[in-house]
Amino acid sequence: MLEVRDLSVKYGHFTALHAVNLTVEPGEIVVLLGANGAGKSTLFRTLSGLQRPSGGAATWRGTPLTGGRPEFNVAHGVAQCPEGRLLFPELSVEKNLRLGAFVHRRDPAGTARELERVYELFPAMVDKRHAPAGSLSGGQQQMVAIGRALMARPDLLLLDEPSLGLAPLVVEQVFAALQRVNAGGVSVLLAEQNAFAALGIAHRGYVLEGGRVTLQGEQRMLMTDDRVRSAYLGV
Ligand code: ATP
Repeated sequence: MLEVRDLSVKYGHFTALHAVNLTVEPGEIVVLLGANGAGKSTLFRTLSGLQRPSGGAATWRGTPLTGGRPEFNVAHGVAQCPEGRLLFPELSVEKNLRLGAFVHRRDPAGTARELERVYELFPAMVDKRHAPAGSLSGGQQQMVAIGRALMARPDLLLLDEPSLGLAPLVVEQVFAALQRVNAGGVSVLLAEQNAFAALGIAHRGYVLEGGRVTLQGEQRMLMTDDRVRSAYLGV
């Protein structure tokens, strides 16, 4: 499982994460709710090995993720789909996808198999495979970004705000695809401000406020919690 224990991150004198504790069990979809600036991206960057913590630990299946080597984390099954997608807009969809298989560059047959699985997951990508990624709609670009992360063959997928800027119907499609990915055995940690859609597919969740976990619980408990309803569900 993913085990985050007393994880703290500082930027200079500013503490962005205060001793955060969180777990993701194999097979779970766990949502991390939080407003802008709550520390969601900081947590993801830390779990990806891009940011060194100032204290605490994070492990996936017992392997430390905080050694500051992103490629190591990807090779050990943890892939991130970053906020804002960060595709290469001039490169084709397929080239963007193939970039995600960087850690498997010595296994071209495995990469070809994974590419087919991504096209099965997102059939709309097949006709677009040679189109520049930047020419796709926002929803399709998000699917390419998720597909690129899957090309690393992760068993833990970190998704930072996949619904950002997407129309409700497109959000539904993206989240339905995430459920299929999860059903295929990939655990998911999902950071979202769109609590309604995220809680619709999550098993459990955490609320992050000012770099601290202030609430955690099962999906149903969070859905009915007054604080969650007023802060994140607009009720
Ligand atoms: P958003 O959805 O807006 O990205 P977030 O919940 O992901 O929000 P973070 O990006 O992790 O939040 O930021 C947490 C806090 O840390 C914010 O107050 C932010 O201003 C600060 N912060 C983030 N990156 C840096 C940095 N490189 N240097 C200094 N402060 C930073």
